[in-house]
Parts: sequence; C-alpha cells; structure tokens
Amino acid sequence: MTGSGGKSAKRNNPFAIGLKHKLVALITALIIAAQLATGLVIVSRVEKAMERENYLRGLTIASDLARSSVRPLISRDLDGLRVNVRVTKAHEDVIHAMVLDPVGRIVMHNNLARVGNDYDGPARAGAALNEEGCGPHYPIKDGVGVDIRVPVMVGGRELGSVVVGFSHAGIQRQLGRLKKQIALVLLVSIGIGIVLAGLVSELVTRPLVRLQQAAKGLEAGHFDVGYLNTSASDELGGLARAFSSMADRLRFQVCYDALTGIYNRFFFQKRLKELWAESVRYHKQLPLLMIDVDHFKRINDTHGHEVGDRCLMMLAEVLLEQSRAEDCVARYGGEEFVVLMAESDSVAAFNLAERIRATVESRPVALDDGRTVAMTISVGVAVFPEDATTKEELISRADQALYRAKRAGRNRVSPVEE
Ligand code: GH3
Ligand code: MG
Ligand code: MG
Repeated sequence: MTGSGGKSAKRNNPFAIGLKHKLVALITALIIAAQLATGLVIVSRVEKAMERENYLRGLTIASDLARSSVRPLISRDLDGLRVNVRVTKAHEDVIHAMVLDPVGRIVMHNNLARVGNDYDGPARAGAALNEEGCGPHYPIKDGVGVDIRVPVMVGGRELGSVVVGFSHAGIQRQLGRLKKQIALVLLVSIGIGIVLAGLVSELVTRPLVRLQQAAKGLEAGHFDVGYLNTSASDELGGLARAFSSMADRLRFQVCYDALTGIYNRFFFQKRLKELWAESVRYHKQLPLLMIDVDHFKRINDTHGHEVGDRCLMMLAEVLLEQSRAEDCVARYGGEEFVVLMAESDSVAAFNLAERIRATVESRPVALDDGRTVAMTISVGVAVFPEDATTKEELISRADQALYRAKRAGRNRVSPVEE
C-alpha cells in the first residue's frame, strides 16, 4: 500500500521502510505506550486502595486482639491469651498473631515454640514503621505480608502490645486477575490500534503516493494529474491544488507556442507518435500538412517584426478555424506550421489544405493605421502509408511537398509527387 514510493525507496535501499509502515509503527507504539501507562496507573492505584483496605481489616483484627487481651494480661491468664491468639490466627489472611509484654518479649504466640522469645520482626519497637503503624512488607510463600502492631492500653498505661502478621496474598491474587484482564484489553486495543493506524496512515500516504506518481508523470512528460484529490480542505488538498496548477502551467510552457497559443513542435512530435502507432495498428491513413508563409521575410522587412507576429497569429487562427478538433495544429518553427489529421484521409487532407490556403489569401491582416498586409502560404501534403513508412519520413516528405509548392510558384498546395 505504500505504492511506487515505497517500492522505489526499497529499490535504492532494501532496508528502507515506507512512510506508511513508519506511521503504523509510530501510531501503534504511541497506543501501546498510552495503554501501558494507563494500565500501570490503574494497577498501582487499585493496589494501593486494596492494601489500605486490607490494612484496615488487619488493624480491626489486631485491635480486637488488643482489646480482648487487656484482662488476660492484667490477670496473667495465659490460657485466655492462647484462646484469643488462636481465634485471631483463624481469620483469613492472618499469618501469625502474638501478644508482647512492654519490653517486647512474646507472651503468647500462635506458635507456642516462640513464646518467651523477643519479637524481632519488622514491627518491633524502634523499627521504622509507616504512618499506619505497619512494618515494611516482607515476602511470604504466596505473596507479601505486613506486621501490624497495636498497643494494649489501660488508663494511659501500656500493658504490652499485640502483633498481627497479615498477608496481602488475597489482594495479590485479585491484582493478578486484574493485570490479566488489563493485558487482554491491551492486546485487543493494540489489535484495533494497528488497524486504525493502518487506516490513518493510508489516509495520509495515499495522497502523497498520488503526488509522487504525478511528479514522476511530469518528469516523463505526462501532464494529466486529474487523479489528484484537489477538493480536500487540508494541507494535502492544498498541496494537490498547487501541484495541479503547476502541472497546468508546465503543460502550457512545454506543449504550447507562446506567440500563437497553438501546440508547439514538442507536442506535435508526441501526438505524431501516438497517431502513428494507431494508424499502423489499424491500417488507417494519416495525412500531414506542412505550411509555410510565402516571402515572410519580406513582410518582416517591410512592416516590422510586430506585424510579422500578427500575421503568424492570424495564420494560427485560420488553421484552428478550418481544422477539426481532433486534428493536431502546431507551430513547427519560425513561420512553418503543421496539421496532423487524425481519423482522416488524403482527400480530406487536400480539401483542408486548399481551404486554409484560400482563407489566408482572402484574409489580409489589418494594421492599426488602416493598411492591410496580404499574405499567402504554400502547403505540402504527405499521407501515410502512401508517401512514407516511418513518421520521420512522413515529416520529410511533407517538407519535400512544401518545397515543390514553393518551386512551383508558391501560394499553392502540393502533394509529394504528381
Ligand atoms: P519562402 O517563401 O521561401 O518561405 O521565404 P521566406 O522569406 O518566408 O523564408 P525565409 O526562411 O527566408 O524567412 C523566414 C523568416 O521568418 C525569417 C525569420 O526572421 C522570420 N521569422 C521566424 N520566426 C519569426 C517570428 O516568430 N516572428 C517574426 N516576426 N518573424 C519570424
Ligand atoms: Mg520557412
Ligand atoms: Mg516562408
């Protein structure tokens, strides 16, 4: 879809990437980056919210343990503390539960072997706790845990404290599910993104590929750029309009004669090539008239170049007026003109030649001072296939016929041979 642009770039450099593919890659990368950033923000916000929620659950459980441990601690009722610790440990997501005395020694623990030891976990006294009274997260078998420490207070006196180790495994499982869902959404949106990127880049590159085609066409002498979309209101539409008017101007400069406004020799040669191929293929006659102003030098010398120019313009007008739309009327050079007759024959060619000659003779050029300048022309007629086997020969035979007309006295139409 990158069209000839991508292909020719590849021809020069096999690793070259077309504009379309660059745009697709860029847009897709942007979509992935935006989705990833959004996904990460969502996951981290949700993670924080869930951790907070989990902490509050843990705090409630630890506070319950602290409350229920007041009496047993006062009465040194270890059985009561054991029951309380067991009840606490039975809660979902509780890793361990313990009661500490004021100096941090374990008075009761769900693992009785720990009783009597000092608590040296993350929520120990003097350790850096976060603002919620939690020690830092620590890894456990299926995720991370956190120790929450709550003092056991009575009348402003600290009897000890309780520590509840609380697991984030539950929220991590939920987060895992959320991450999978986000990854799925990401994959789907990347797929949609690639399709959209393809459409967007097609929208941008198609007019550019056409402009490139048009530029190459101009290079090869094809001025028809009607396939450009000049109606779009965006910058590409503006570029297409500028290109189209440039092609028009170029066509005029390359194909038309500046003085008379009819086709020039370049365009005539191009048209001859086309019509020649058609005539050869379909065995059709192709007549060519070669026209030259008689004693034009005299007109110039007598009345000046400006009058000479007006004579040439008048002759061009007569040629256009007398010929058909399908004929190619061109200035061949100086005061020589040609008429290449598409879809015609020798009879029509001699008729046209005579009509042109007679019209020019009967239509003197009027000067500003009221005087008139009489002008005559000589015309040579050559016809394919009777007179020539190549297009170059057709031109030289028409030229020969023209010089026969000159030699025979001018102001006449002459065939190649009588
Ligand atoms: P012949 O009948 O044999 O054709 O004689 P001629 O005088 O027409 O031919 P010649 O080739 O001697 O002179 C052609 C003249 O046409 C010479 C040249 O100055 C003039 N000419 C060529 N191009 C132009 C032009 O664009 N404007 C004007 N005013 N004169 C031109
Ligand atoms: Mg001449
Ligand atoms: Mg002449």
